[in-house]
Amino acid sequence: MNALAATSRNFKNAARILGLDAKIERSLLIPFREIKVECTIPKDDGSLVSYVGFRVQHDNARGPMKGGIRYHPEVDPDEVNALAQLMTWKTAVADIPYGGAKGGIGCTPRDLSLSELERLTRVFAQKIHDLIGTHTDVPAPDMGTNAQTMAWMLDEYSKFHGHSPAVVTGKPIDLGGSLGREAATGRGVVFGTEALLAEYGKSCKGLTFVIQGFGNVGSWAARLIHERGGKVIAVSDITGAVKNPNGLDIDELVKHKESTGSLLNFNGGDNMDPDEVLIHECDVLIPSALGGVLNRENASSVRAKFIVEAANHPTDPEADEILSKKGVIILPDIYANAGGVTVSYFEWVQNIQGFMWDEEKVNNELQRYMTKAFHNIKNMCKTYDCNLRMGAFTLGVNRVARATNLRGYEA
Ligand code: NAD
Repeated sequence: MNALAATSRNFKNAARILGLDAKIERSLLIPFREIKVECTIPKDDGSLVSYVGFRVQHDNARGPMKGGIRYHPEVDPDEVNALAQLMTWKTAVADIPYGGAKGGIGCTPRDLSLSELERLTRVFAQKIHDLIGTHTDVPAPDMGTNAQTMAWMLDEYSKFHGHSPAVVTGKPIDLGGSLGREAATGRGVVFGTEALLAEYGKSCKGLTFVIQGFGNVGSWAARLIHERGGKVIAVSDITGAVKNPNGLDIDELVKHKESTGSLLNFNGGDNMDPDEVLIHECDVLIPSALGGVLNRENASSVRAKFIVEAANHPTDPEADEILSKKGVIILPDIYANAGGVTVSYFEWVQNIQGFMWDEEKVNNELQRYMTKAFHNIKNMCKTYDCNLRMGAFTLGVNRVARATNLRGYEA
């Protein structure tokens, strides 16, 4: 099932549980606006190349729309649509005053030089500058884009509208980025995991963790779990997988990855088959790489007690059912990886205030938001007798539906 079908299915289940009026349900599903633009740039050799750029603005009932911009060959309108919708529910679950959006350009960034990427980003910004803004739609980095991409977007947007640091988040610190943003998603994953484990009288200390993906999210989650006395017993990335039943030394593993470019042949562990990682016995499994990795084929072999969805959409709906029947507790993506957008919100607040917070304040506020959201989800689970995924969806959808109703429908 693709991301759009799975997201819409979860939304419809939540709407049914909440008893939403069919007309509101329909209006919440249809995106506010879909933008598709041609982006033609001269390549470094003087030849012209054209790409298609998208921005889907899903909903703005609770505030400016918010979501990443990805540069990836498989960016397509359906996927961007699903991800924009997910952002609407995610920002509502986190209780930050935003709606949802997502965008991207169908390109292969590693095939483009830095100057070609800059031209492409500036052309895209020129095409959409009238439709984004500090109080309209605030982009951020996503797959294939980074702080530099946001710096170019900010610069191009500012040519039309004057200096506007709050128009994008995930910026370099020198241009108004927030301290703590780089680690925020991984840190939020760990705060969410701690809130979940506390429900079972447990903490990270002494428990075993397996992490798929050792990029921004996975490596920060691993570092912070290790810091708290959790044993990260297996880790994988695109280069391979490594395990140590007594716990990997994550700081050393980060250094090894930086110096060799690979997880393999690490002194403090043994290489393992990457396909075994998701079914390795552990207390907590944290998929932090791709969507759809837990599916009909492998779900029944999963031996974790808890799954924390750091990646977007790692569990397809069939796997969700199999895992639920096995009694595996899943902390859903629309909550578990909301730390990044939450600190993006803090960045936007700091830019608007013109006042920079220290990192301790950012991390403390993030913990407060993640812990509060977890308890709000649990309350929905109690009220509607549902699992954590439906608890999160009903929480998010209900907040957006309430805001929509309060604003009214008069033309
Ligand atoms: P990243 O590009 O920094 O890291 C991705 C990691 O996944 C890399 O270590 C890569 O080697 C690994 N990977 C790729 N294919 C793999 C495979 N087949 N098997 C094992 N590992 C594989 O990306 P990221 O920013 O860490 O994002 C990871 C996930 O978290 C994505 O699903 C993303 O959408 C989601 N997410 C990220 C953020 C954020 O702030 N970065 C926020 C919310 C959600």
